[in-house]
Amino acid sequence: MVGRVNCYLIEDDPLTLIDCGPNSGKALDELERALSEHDRRIEDLERIVITHQHMDHLGLVDIVARRSGAEVCTLDLLAPVIENFSRHAERDDQLAETLMLRHGIPDDVVVALRAVSRMARGWGGATAVSRRLADGGRLEFATRSFEVLHRPGHSPSDTVFFDAQDGTLVAGDHLLRHISSNPLISRPLDGSDEHARPRALVTYIGSLRRTREMPVRLVLPGHGEPFSGHAELIDERFAMHERRARKIRGLLAEPMSAHQIAQALWGTVAVTQAFLTLSEVLGHVDLLLDRGEVVEEQAGGVVSYRAT
Ligand SMILES: [Zn+2]
Repeated sequence: MVGRVNCYLIEDDPLTLIDCGPNSGKALDELERALSEHDRRIEDLERIVITHQHMDHLGLVDIVARRSGAEVCTLDLLAPVIENFSRHAERDDQLAETLMLRHGIPDDVVVALRAVSRMARGWGGATAVSRRLADGGRLEFATRSFEVLHRPGHSPSDTVFFDAQDGTLVAGDHLLRHISSNPLISRPLDGSDEHARPRALVTYIGSLRRTREMPVRLVLPGHGEPFSGHAELIDERFAMHERRARKIRGLLAEPMSAHQIAQALWGTVAVTQAFLTLSEVLGHVDLLLDRGEVVEEQAGGVVSYRAT
């Protein structure tokens, strides 16, 4: 979640809004103002599409859906999250807490972050989903058609929408130009083992590989300006993750917990943003574990890693 979020209006039949911003009066004002620039009102919307489960993209969904009567469409895996957002957020926080303690983050930091997360939950929102989209299915308009593609990694529900006619990819936070999308560890939505630690970066890299092969001409991202050159950008991201994995491996002559690695890389940010940086470290550790370049050890309930 980074600063301003993009919502896209598709002026077609049905009139469609993709993402709706966080649940705040300011965001609602801005959405109304932006729609009025196109001579539209919230009440005119006929369809709302949500790209993924993060609060900054879906928070206003219930207000906008109720005022407009628009149908709400999401990937099938995302629907239960949106329909019961606070329960989902609570379970995600439980997973985060378990992981933070297991990977060496001190108890008091974990307690503080839990409180921050509870307070932030008001930016989210819940609503009934009217139509569940299948991965590989289509989102049809009178004059165009988007392929619906599941691209998990940044979050487990990331969905992109591709119009093969003109090469437009509505990408949510799957691919951003100026910052790399953090693959945040989050509860699996597909019924896979909740006790196995989700491997968000490994999943994300697999998703980026599939996007790289697509004939995309213009990316409409969830944050920042539209851009082209998606394949080059994805290659840069791969190189960046590789550099970061090598740097982490270089630290591990002696065993370190993931939290110690995060502190070595980012100092106090590893405390204020403990879960974000933990997700980042564990993602790269997963790449190294897969290649047998590091091994995992456990002592006193805390996991540590060591270079082989
Ligand atoms: Zn996001």
